[in-house]
Amino acid sequence: QSVSKQRKIAVVGARNVGKSSLTVQFVESHFVESYYPTIENQFTKQIVLGKTPYTLEICDTAGQDEFSLINTKSLIGLKGIVIVYSCVNRASFEIVELIRDKILDQLGLDNIPAVVVANKIDLRSARDGGSVITPNEGAQLAAKLGAGFKECSAKLNVGVEEAVTLLLTRMEGPIKSNSND
Ligand code: GDP
Repeated sequence: QSVSKQRKIAVVGARNVGKSSLTVQFVESHFVESYYPTIENQFTKQIVLGKTPYTLEICDTAGQDEFSLINTKSLIGLKGIVIVYSCVNRASFEIVELIRDKILDQLGLDNIPAVVVANKIDLRSARDGGSVITPNEGAQLAAKLGAGFKECSAKLNVGVEEAVTLLLTRMEGPIKSNSND
């Protein structure tokens, strides 16, 4: 019998970007078309990285704007964050860095392992023009933040598990979050 390592992560980002949909898709493997507007929900999920079993505690937050703070309770023991924006909503993209900075402020840290997720890629189409955030823009922002980057669709279950695995790798891997390279 092996004892799994416990790790706590939070899913953050503007409202309506699909934080709950991504979390439910990852934990329960289905897409809910209209989920309740989230106050805040906790999930747990077993995942194996390499040969190590982990128990992930996932905090699906209510969503942030430029004024909101994350619930203090959600921050206790936090080891990594998934910062979600919608690739068809520029405002949600533009607030990513601010949300990350506010969490670091609240935690009193210089850095935390993070993955930036561009969700709703199934809705991306050329005719949306300027409201569409290209993969390149997303990747550049993630690089600026020293974070990983993954494009996802919670609806089609594209990239979801990979995004969480990428975060866990960054949390647990040899290159730690406070390394510059
Ligand atoms: P949250 O407020 O960030 O937790 O967002 P929700 O998970 O409640 O999702 C907001 C809306 O976007 C809901 O109507 C979802 O069904 C929808 N949604 C979430 N993810 C996707 C996706 O990948 N593709 C599409 N087309 N819709 C999505």
